Amino acid sequence: MFNCNDLSLLNFTYYFKLSLGIIMTIIPVLVLELIFIKVIRLKEKKKKIDTKFIVKQLKTVFYTIVFFFLAYALNMAITSPNNKCNMYAKKDIIKEYKSSLKEVNDSDMTENSKVEYMEKVLITAYENYEKDDLNNKVKEKTTNNEKAKVVQINNKSDFLKENSDKTLNTVYVKNGVFYYQGYVSGNYNTYYGTHCPSNPLKEGYNNPYGYNNYFYNRLTKFIEDAGKNGYKITMSEQGCRSYQTQVYYYKTMTPGRAAPPGWSFHGLGIASDLEFYGGNGYPCPYGRTDNSCPSMGWAHRNAYKYGLVFPLLNASYKEDWHVEPVNKQSY
Ligand SMILES: [Zn+2]
Repeated sequence: MFNCNDLSLLNFTYYFKLSLGIIMTIIPVLVLELIFIKVIRLKEKKKKIDTKFIVKQLKTVFYTIVFFFLAYALNMAITSPNNKCNMYAKKDIIKEYKSSLKEVNDSDMTENSKVEYMEKVLITAYENYEKDDLNNKVKEKTTNNEKAKVVQINNKSDFLKENSDKTLNTVYVKNGVFYYQGYVSGNYNTYYGTHCPSNPLKEGYNNPYGYNNYFYNRLTKFIEDAGKNGYKITMSEQGCRSYQTQVYYYKTMTPGRAAPPGWSFHGLGIASDLEFYGGNGYPCPYGRTDNSCPSMGWAHRNAYKYGLVFPLLNASYKEDWHVEPVNKQSY
């Protein structure tokens, strides 16, 4: 499957897009300016602007327009939503990809694990890029009052004692059970529910990454306690995945791997993809086990104490990093 998991392809797309941008903006301006200068010179010399001159300039304009539309068409073709290279060809993403590639090449991973690892790097870098993009947009719109709300989160010691019957958009928590809005079965193509409630940031999701607050509190306590035991674990900064991102995963990932749009707990802010670190300070590479990656082993063994579960440990596409609250029920 083509997923643009290749440094040369990413670089090529980046510079190609850059060149097209230049062709479409700078060249037409330059041509018009040159014609303008020519006309002024003729006037200065008190020469007449004859038909021959006009025809010549019109020809130049015509070719410039043709050139512009060719570049425009090419640009449209490249920026099609199915072109993964275009989505990933961003400066920050390429930079991260490049540095991870170096790390992976220096490691003793098998070729297959390298490819799989780099694919995850690419997807995560894209997620972070999107998240930053969203954060910037939210920041622009957020008033000072709302900004203060983002910092104010629930008391962490209450992480297992939620007792709220207040409906918070799509997920509410009562007696430790996470109630989420059920979807019209099998009709995810027309799904239009209030997906990703933290987008923009809303009450109940006002923690740094936009997770459901109760889930965020469990996760924070879990990660803190891992740290106290000497294990480094981090949660994904994408607290709530947008519907569009889920559509993208569903379309681009191997069938069966990503949940259909509208069906992912990531879209409700009650799932997180964790990163487990080894003793060397680097994330444990693929092909890891609870023994070879002790921080992950600790997480898998202790999650239940925090009301958390890793539901995809035995799935056909094993995701040893994906964590959710243990009690969930649709309403
Ligand atoms: Zn996940």
